[in-house]
Amino acid sequence: MIFPLLRFGAAVVFCTTISAGASGIPLRQSKEATSRPQAELQAIDMKPTVMKFGGTSVEDTTAFRNVTSIVRLAAGSRPVIVVSAIGGFTNALLASVERAIAGDSRGASKLLDKHFERHLVIAKDLLGKESHAAFVSLIGDARGKIRQLHKIIASHPVTSPPLQDEIVAYGEQLSSQLLAAVLCENGLGARGVDARSCVKTDENYGSAAPQGETVEATRTVLLPLLKAAKIPVLGGFIGSTARGVTTTLGRGGSDYSAALIGAAIGAREIQIWTDVSGVLTADPRLVPHAQTIPVLSYHEAAELAYFGAKVLHPKTIQPAIDQNIPVRVCNSRAPKNRGTLIVSESEAAPQTVKAIAHKNGITTVQVTSARMLGAYGFLRKLFEVFDQHRTAVDVVTTSEVSVSLSIDEASSLDALKADLEKLGKVEVEAQRTIISIVGEGLRNTPGIAARVFSVINDINVSMISFGSSSVNLTFMVDEAQAAIAVARLHQIFFEGSPQPDDELTGVRAASPRAHNREEVVV
Ligand code: ASP
Ligand code: MG
Repeated sequence: MIFPLLRFGAAVVFCTTISAGASGIPLRQSKEATSRPQAELQAIDMKPTVMKFGGTSVEDTTAFRNVTSIVRLAAGSRPVIVVSAIGGFTNALLASVERAIAGDSRGASKLLDKHFERHLVIAKDLLGKESHAAFVSLIGDARGKIRQLHKIIASHPVTSPPLQDEIVAYGEQLSSQLLAAVLCENGLGARGVDARSCVKTDENYGSAAPQGETVEATRTVLLPLLKAAKIPVLGGFIGSTARGVTTTLGRGGSDYSAALIGAAIGAREIQIWTDVSGVLTADPRLVPHAQTIPVLSYHEAAELAYFGAKVLHPKTIQPAIDQNIPVRVCNSRAPKNRGTLIVSESEAAPQTVKAIAHKNGITTVQVTSARMLGAYGFLRKLFEVFDQHRTAVDVVTTSEVSVSLSIDEASSLDALKADLEKLGKVEVEAQRTIISIVGEGLRNTPGIAARVFSVINDINVSMISFGSSSVNLTFMVDEAQAAIAVARLHQIFFEGSPQPDDELTGVRAASPRAHNREEVVV
């Protein structure tokens, strides 16, 4: 019977030391706690700011130092810190579970050694004697516990889904405990909080869905700490079921945690600190002069996320969207750069073109059939085929007798094609690139399509889709011509000398509209 062992706060050794609101590490009493500056006292009525730091922002000693100075500068804005596991640790933890499932529990545990060492190096560099000793013992406990779990998985692989979450959750537990201790060491009144007491989920291990109870639980834990002018530090990505079993929210889930926590406490802003300066006007590998986009609407951000631009997954910021909380993407290595602010449609600056996005490796499928003419039900049958092959379609264009569709996952293409041939003639083209011009209000701006296509009039364009969403103009080119097309488009919209109509269309990178939430964050 292994389940009771999983209940956090009860039997898990490591977790019992971190009851909500109190760090497992003895914390040096901060000087500020007694003589808090006036600004901080005034901030007590202000809405909190959630600051989430991703794995690369806490990958080593230098990164921890950067985070410390960022938090120090934001100390007056009632910060709540959400942190990912240190860079690379989640991958290693997952790989260790795989190894244990394959029966090699010793090898599984060994995979983690160097990552525990990395934590210890940071602790040695940044903690005083007492808190260092406490952190060393936390690492020891975590190691012992994970070792046991690896053994259980190796002998009973069926137990792996919940045990995997239990193991992987150590990544965020350790980073949050370490960060809380480092902040305290630097005189900031931080408190490590076990995120599992806040984020309540269903039992879908590996990709658990947060439940409504999260709001109440989060408020109960965090509001008293904020009231006492403490800085809560929580691990992202992790939660627990109603029975107290550890869960995780899916890869990259720390952004989701930040949005859930921000929504629960009515944050003023949710900041996602990463290693790029916000969202860029184009992929910098193709366009070295790509600039940070100052303001994006949620809708534009969602369109860009598909192109793998370093934008948040739309699902992860949904809780923020629902509460109308702005989300800012910032660079922890260049904290003075203001990054990109993502706001609701109505608050986004009315600028026509915000970004030139592209995605390579696209396959297009064209189905032509005279049976389509004047008939109904054809599209349903066509989409059923994609459904059966579990293949997602991204762009669709139709004419009277043909339909073109784009897919970015062509693994079941042969079988898919065979089934589509029952409906009509099928032509497939691989190595295509989708290019998308993204900007709120694009559809209502005259002349945009003409400008776009005139700069690439020597490049063969297909599958033009304009108007199905008001925020993008999308088309397909050959992969070999994508780089030149993107560079030229970027040039006319962002780099060229202002065209006479630019003022009218707002095409140039306009400065963000004065925004009363935009006071400097760091
Ligand atoms: N550490 C987790 C991951 O690597 C969660 C996150 O970083 O957002 O997926
Ligand atoms: Mg991440």
